Amino acid sequence: MTSDKSFRTVIEPFIIKSVEPLRLTTRGERKKYLQEAHYNLFKIKAQHVLIDLLTDSGTGAMSTEQWAALMRGDESYAGSPSFQRFENSVKDVFGFKYVIPTHQGRAAERILFSTMCKKGDIVPNNTHFDTTRANVEYRGAMAVDLVVEEGKDPQKIYPFKGNMDVRQLRSLIEKEGAEKVPLCMLTITNNSGGGQPVSMENIKEVKKVLEEYNIPLYFDAARFAENAYFIKLREGGYQDISVKDIVREMMSYADGCTMSAKKDGLANIGGFICTNDSALAQQEKDLLILTEGYPTYGGLAGRDLEAIAVGLQEVLEEDYLRYRLAEAKYLGERLIEIGYPIVQPPGGHAVYLDAKTLLPHIPQSQYPGQALSVELYLAGGIRTVEIGSVMFGKVNPKTKEETPAAMELVRLALPRRTHTQSHIDYVLEVAKDVYNNREKIKGMKITAQPQFLRHFTAKFDQA
Ligand SMILES: *Cc1c(COP(=O)(O)O)cnc(C)c1O
Repeated sequence: MTSDKSFRTVIEPFIIKSVEPLRLTTRGERKKYLQEAHYNLFKIKAQHVLIDLLTDSGTGAMSTEQWAALMRGDESYAGSPSFQRFENSVKDVFGFKYVIPTHQGRAAERILFSTMCKKGDIVPNNTHFDTTRANVEYRGAMAVDLVVEEGKDPQKIYPFKGNMDVRQLRSLIEKEGAEKVPLCMLTITNNSGGGQPVSMENIKEVKKVLEEYNIPLYFDAARFAENAYFIKLREGGYQDISVKDIVREMMSYADGCTMSAKKDGLANIGGFICTNDSALAQQEKDLLILTEGYPTYGGLAGRDLEAIAVGLQEVLEEDYLRYRLAEAKYLGERLIEIGYPIVQPPGGHAVYLDAKTLLPHIPQSQYPGQALSVELYLAGGIRTVEIGSVMFGKVNPKTKEETPAAMELVRLALPRRTHTQSHIDYVLEVAKDVYNNREKIKGMKITAQPQFLRHFTAKFDQA
């Protein structure tokens, strides 16, 4: 059922049955917590965060049906009915022949690339998510991003900024030889590119090129339902087609997928691999037993499989998706009204602030994204994440010189079904206060850092 179209307010399509208290902190307390955490928000205790927009991964609220399904969880080591319900639900939504559960998305990636890639291979994607890139590179293969030009310009408004550049795909295959490209991936929606969708037309075009060279197409399907709803809203001919049918059409062009159930699985943990290739499925199951578990649980408890089975159906409900996309749009549009430069248009799961443009007085060597992120916490207890030079800056191991990232962004990710509009209004009020005082925000410097993935543990101080 959809709500009456004559009313403009998009409501949260749920009521609250179980609550978790939020504790307010004072600015003085937050100042102390920041100092103790060396200005690294990953090191702040969750109890000291008021609105946690660090990530939308595994942080959503489960429904009453999911909690009820949890009780039905059967913990048999092999052949559990929970696995059967999980497998039926995944097949019903995705339509692939073989389904292999994993403990989360990156485990699915590791198994997929271990079976399909070898050293020297090339894997194209619109934009590789960081764990996807790491898993491709760990195999000694090369991860190539081929997102369209529109997807690289943060201010540009374009309906499908996640699309792949099909001409570049063809020339890459021609240049390198099809035998060096074991598969092509499309990330739906394109997380690293701002949660931007891929159009059905683009999926079809990519598939057509790949078919000529006999290269399989796999989706990184973490936000498949959000992508399908963007197609319904923005692509001609899909307005009257159900999201479930749009998903089935999207999947019909692919040979399989990897999935993080912590996103559009509406679960707190889990993932899976799908494929239509029986020989590959067998190899994947053999590898799964080595590190994840027996193929009817794949590192998950029976109750987790049940939660995912229900979540995959609920995520297709259009009242839910309308609310989901409206929440990001509401936050994004009001941040623009305040004056914030953001990545346009807002994606499905997050809004990205452009800290470099907002804080021209802070050079990239002083991490404007980190400075803004710290200020949002200090001002109102809001936790966000820097996606800029702290995360992607490259330090030369010899000279210690640093090449900054292309963009200095701060991501406000929205956990699913978790916050109400007044929480978002509070975020906006804090953001406005920070905006009005933006000229006083100071840059940061790194005082200690590890060699890899420094953003998780680096220590900072004010520059
Ligand atoms: C989260 C995510 C992954 C990795 O999944 P995990 O469950 O975190 O291991 C892969 N790809 C995309 C696009 C993601 O958003």
